[in-house]
Amino acid sequence: MKPDPHETDLVQLLRCLDGRSYASYKELRGAEFELGPARLRVLHVQGDPFAAPSRIQLELDPAKASLPGFCAADAVGRRASADFLQRAWIAALGRERSRLGSGKSGLLEMAPVGPEMLQRSGVQVSEDGSCHVRLAVGLPASGRRILGIRAAELLGEKLPALVERVFGELDLETLRVHRQALEDQVVLRAALESRGLVAFLADGSVLPRRTGTSSEPLAGAVPLRAPESLAVELEAPGAGRLRGLGVPRGVSLIVGGGYHGKSTLLGALQASVYDHVPGDGRELCVADRASVTVRAEDGRCVTGVDLRPFIGNLPLGVDTARFCTQDASGSTSQAAAIVEALEAGCRTLLIDEDTAATNFLIRDARMRRLIPDEAEPITPFLDRVRQLWEEAGVSSVLVLGGAGDYLDVADCVIQMVAYELLDATERAREVAAELPLGEARARAAGPWPRAQPRVPDRGSLDAGRGRRAERVRSVRTRSIEFGEHEIDVSLMPQLVDASQCRAIGDALLELSRGLCNSRRSLAELLDELDARFEESGIDAVCARSFGDRARPRRFEIAAALNRLRSLSLC
Ligand code: ADP
Ligand code: MG
Repeated sequence: MKPDPHETDLVQLLRCLDGRSYASYKELRGAEFELGPARLRVLHVQGDPFAAPSRIQLELDPAKASLPGFCAADAVGRRASADFLQRAWIAALGRERSRLGSGKSGLLEMAPVGPEMLQRSGVQVSEDGSCHVRLAVGLPASGRRILGIRAAELLGEKLPALVERVFGELDLETLRVHRQALEDQVVLRAALESRGLVAFLADGSVLPRRTGTSSEPLAGAVPLRAPESLAVELEAPGAGRLRGLGVPRGVSLIVGGGYHGKSTLLGALQASVYDHVPGDGRELCVADRASVTVRAEDGRCVTGVDLRPFIGNLPLGVDTARFCTQDASGSTSQAAAIVEALEAGCRTLLIDEDTAATNFLIRDARMRRLIPDEAEPITPFLDRVRQLWEEAGVSSVLVLGGAGDYLDVADCVIQMVAYELLDATERAREVAAELPLGEARARAAGPWPRAQPRVPDRGSLDAGRGRRAERVRSVRTRSIEFGEHEIDVSLMPQLVDASQCRAIGDALLELSRGLCNSRRSLAELLDELDARFEESGIDAVCARSFGDRARPRRFEIAAALNRLRSLSLC
């Protein structure tokens, strides 16, 4: 075939590959081509049409991306515009899906996103206004023969047209609103500390989701309105002066009848550690980033956790200062989750009675009479919750429908009545005085034992499987296969995005490659990972240049590591 002088190198090469065996696509590996307004870099070439797709990166210099100044100037602008562009790519690709041949032939894909504005690897905007876009591509084949003409159309025509469409048709006004929404949330969250708040949820916010598995707002929901005594005002740069519910630091309860919206409110708090897109309903809701939902999770493993604050003198003299099990009970797992969250730097615990172990939360008068304290290994959370706040500054927010024993220890009681909020703090004090608990009341549980830092043993982090030195894969937000082990992450409600889950797999891999050196403590390892994310971006941890990664929180990285059944300590 005679090369057309107007064709790009890429198109020529792909045409030349037409009809050859699939392995010849390897000639593209590492190659760079000028492609219309962008430079295309081939990051990975798939081995066959059915394998995981190939990966490409489009690089636009500042003039070609022509993003307005507010996109690149600061970290907020870069995160917001990258998030916006990723959504624009997803929308543009959604209209275009075509299959050309066998396996993944013709696929052109950007990692899907939820309502959270996370730091992601799919689109990245730099300080100078240049832009990187990473896509998955199914290089076309018929059987195992290269469809070079089709490939040339896909990469040489369709792709530049998409670049033109996404960057050329950017809706700058909507982009400005997107950025403003993110800035508002960042500013509001930063104000929490000085105002003594765990969270702020603006009036008018829509908290419930359409279904239990959906992230879309429920249509026709009762919008949030803070009762006068719990209302605070905060200033956001875009939205202006806002009135809303201020959940104070300390011990707060969310009470009310079944089905009145308690878990939904707690769910909104746990979601508000992240920033949400305009239209989500929670885009003016913010919570302390270091808020962690802790729940019962029987059957999980626990490795060397100091459970003494909650569990002592177990039968058969089992040591609870460095407690290990491959099959935790409900109460033990929840105690471990709290100690692990504190180790990772948690400042607010979120607990829902629906998913908590009752015997971990309370022990009532009759049980205390029947089973003497000496025979009960568990110190209920009730006896520790005030100490956590007063001595360590760790707040708790608990949803309670049945365990009224907590009325004694609460600073603030929010009552839900048919999705309306009431301040029941005063009334709760009266009830507590009218019905004293006697011997079942919260009692000082003794000093909080000082835990030794846990130092993971590098040898216990082996990503090898069979003949492969490293094999790490994740399944949505459900599990991470790490070498021979499957880590169950399905009960981590603040792991919200499959891209975060993949990034946790990368973080664990980084640990196994030597970041974990059998000397650094788990907390130090988390600090190091966070510093890399912060200073050098997502690729500093997710080193393999995938486009489908999003930054996880340190708490979810820690939680995954803590659920790795091979983990052992030095
Ligand atoms: P609880 O924990 O008090 O039993 P939930 O929070 O589970 O109650 O809420 C019960 C139901 O009410 C859920 O289906 C939820 O989607 C719905 N719901 C929650 N908040 C609202 C609201 N503000 N407006 C309308 N429906 C809501
Ligand atoms: Mg509930």
